[in-house]
Amino acid sequence: MEGEIALEARAKINLGLDVTGIREDGYHLVKMVMQSLDLHDDILIKITDEAGIKISCDKEGIPKDERNLAYKAAKLIMDEKKISAGISIDIKKRIPAAAGLAGGSSDAAAVLKGINELFDLALSQKELMELGLKIGADVPYCIMLKTALAQGIGEKLTRLKDLPKCHILLAKPGLDVKTMDVYKKLDLIKDYEHPDIDSMLEALNRGDLEGICSEMGNVLELVTESEHKEIGELKRLMKDNGALNAMMSGSGPTVFGIYSDEEKAKKTYDIIREKDFGGSLFLTYGR
Ligand code: ATP
Repeated sequence: MEGEIALEARAKINLGLDVTGIREDGYHLVKMVMQSLDLHDDILIKITDEAGIKISCDKEGIPKDERNLAYKAAKLIMDEKKISAGISIDIKKRIPAAAGLAGGSSDAAAVLKGINELFDLALSQKELMELGLKIGADVPYCIMLKTALAQGIGEKLTRLKDLPKCHILLAKPGLDVKTMDVYKKLDLIKDYEHPDIDSMLEALNRGDLEGICSEMGNVLELVTESEHKEIGELKRLMKDNGALNAMMSGSGPTVFGIYSDEEKAKKTYDIIREKDFGGSLFLTYGR
């Protein structure tokens, strides 16, 4: 058997992130507004003569074995559909890892879609999303993409109107954050302010970019921002330089700023780059 398929695995940000409770099994219940970005990893899947799943990746520090979420996705769908062919998966990484940008989940989502096409499995998007949920709570969204409301543990998804055109600056400080730790620490804080996700949904529905930005909020900032002063500094710097608003994505530490004015976004990019920032910077947009 021969064949190959190339796919993009897009990063995501959370325009809003609220925690509404904890499930009996310990998973957190969330209410999140998700937005995928043009920033993406490139995934190339090839059918090979050799049996098994082989992962290659151009970035150090990313597991190249069964711990890689792309491997887990391939194994899951191939076991499910009893595919015995060998495959190789090459990942060209652009999305920083452990950043709150769902890089690993997005690679897994792309692999599920890719193998579905490569082997003509004809699984529906819903079926792919159900498989994806076995890998991680963000994977179903990474299959759906664009602007969406995520509830439950992240798997109950509602399509929303597209985010109005804007420029998105991402700055990932040179530190890694463990998502699990952040949620555990949030549990220790008894009372805190919640973002008004419903008002953000109304603003999205009106196509009101300023309204959307004014409703941005992420309860996980309470934990990560208090531990890493870089996050507050980046937010301030973006807002001082023309961002409509700036916030941390997911459990962090990536900070994003939303701009209607591309020149201001570019200027902020240059200011951060010149600061000996030590992290990764991207100027991108919702897609
Ligand atoms: P989320 O927004 O879902 O919390 P994240 O940005 O915090 O995601 P990932 O980029 O998914 O985190 O990576 C978390 C860890 O998962 C990494 O430290 C890495 O060791 C591991 N990992 C496994 N597979 C991948 C992959 N394909 N790409 C990146 N990291 C991966």
